[in-house]
Amino acid sequence: MQRLVRIVLLIVCFSGGACAGAQSTPRSDLRATPPPSLIVLVTVDQLTGIYLDRFGAQLHGGLARLARGGAWFSNAHHDHAITETAPGHATLLSGRFPRSTGIMANRIGVADPSAPLIGAPGSLGASPRRFQGTELFDWLTARDSRSRALSVSMKDRAAILPIGRSRTDVYWYDVSGRFTTSTYYRDTLPEWVQRFNARRLPQSFAGKSWTPLLPDSAYKEPDSVAFEMGGSNFTFPHFVGNDSAQAASAIRGTPWMDEITLAFALDGLRALSLGEGTRTDLLAVSLSATDLIGHGFGPDSKEMHDNILRLDKNLGVFFDSLFKLRDSSRVAITLSADHAVGTIPELAARTMKPGPARINAAALAARLRALVAAAGIDSTLVFLDQQVVVADRTALANRRAGLDSVLAAFAAQVRTLPGISRVDRFHDLIRGDTINDPIARRWSHQFPAQGNVELVITQTPYSIFGTITATHGSPYDYDSHVPIIFYGPWFRPGKYPEFVRTVDIAPTLAEIAGVKPSERLDGVVLRRALK
Ligand SMILES: [Zn+2]
Repeated sequence: MQRLVRIVLLIVCFSGGACAGAQSTPRSDLRATPPPSLIVLVTVDQLTGIYLDRFGAQLHGGLARLARGGAWFSNAHHDHAITETAPGHATLLSGRFPRSTGIMANRIGVADPSAPLIGAPGSLGASPRRFQGTELFDWLTARDSRSRALSVSMKDRAAILPIGRSRTDVYWYDVSGRFTTSTYYRDTLPEWVQRFNARRLPQSFAGKSWTPLLPDSAYKEPDSVAFEMGGSNFTFPHFVGNDSAQAASAIRGTPWMDEITLAFALDGLRALSLGEGTRTDLLAVSLSATDLIGHGFGPDSKEMHDNILRLDKNLGVFFDSLFKLRDSSRVAITLSADHAVGTIPELAARTMKPGPARINAAALAARLRALVAAAGIDSTLVFLDQQVVVADRTALANRRAGLDSVLAAFAAQVRTLPGISRVDRFHDLIRGDTINDPIARRWSHQFPAQGNVELVITQTPYSIFGTITATHGSPYDYDSHVPIIFYGPWFRPGKYPEFVRTVDIAPTLAEIAGVKPSERLDGVVLRRALK
């Protein structure tokens, strides 16, 4: 990973982080509605765009409120290839593709040993040091330095990346059962965070089991599917353990994690007086339980169905509380996700011929190493990182021919393997048809053109790298399709079926806030949704 980080950092520096793409320009006319005093971004980790339709009739809480009262883009996508948490979160409020944010994969996300967690020297910390450029919060503070932001999540990368590089209030959940942050942001936890942690809410779930919210007849999914959870603990009830430390860890895979994260966000809103002044503040909340539940049980499970019902309920309570604290006519809410998810490959195989495969990345890496060694090339200069082959072309300047034949041989071998759809030379692919070939387009948005990415491997639909029950990360629509809903008096309610992209969220929010992005964006203002 470190080598990929090093090489990718070089790529971003040399490419200057600039992107082609439409630039949003704020409207010059005076707006009838003043800018919001608070923008709330709710990101649900792994929330595919299909759940809102699938479970719509059973939703009566926060999801329903947004879908029925907001501008709901039902065909929205992350238009990049590696549909993972870190690139997705870095895109949502930057309005830029991973090729310019520098956050091109989870593996080059936020891990930072130089920024340990507070009170935990030596811990693997986290920071936005690899993030390049600006985000919505930078544009807000450029207009009014009093603007404040709070970002919270169970995951460090999901809390950090919606904010960019600002050293503000950014907190995430430590497996020990408390919310914390790293020394990149501050040296001590503020009192309100300490008070919240002292309540020991996560530990209070010890001895409890997650059971379905509704009677069994409300769920059409079978509960007992042995492919789930690697074949163990795949039926309700799901017990989190009697021990409080065990429960604090286990609740991450239950809807209770989101309930706790939302309660924490409301405490922070009050403590920081977000949304009280004439400025525009930002609250980013990323809810992670859906991702853990989806990885464990898959998107078509009874557990996921129940999780979405509970998410709807928890968001309903959150919005009711928020609107008791703040005037709803001054609050803009956006709901989206960092990526979606594919179904369990073994379940997809029942209706697909040939069925999807599980790809062994370690075996692919071994094939590449063998070819590199046979060509007499330094194996530290050419390597596979899951679905990408990276090479240090500068160091290999006098070995170009050897490198090219290794890459060609490796691509030819990999193309014959089960689960592989295509292997492309990245530089050929971005010069090719990125209009009619969505896979090429998504890869071209993933890495800078001047980079050291040599080959990109695309699996067949629903094939996955590794043994995890279900996952995401491919350039296919099932992984890229997420909801985008804008809610508040600035937006024209309705269901919008046109194709839009998650890079369009940030310029649209900048537009209603009346601030100007300070750099070129890939996204555009979704004017149709604006009043
Ligand atoms: Zn995930």
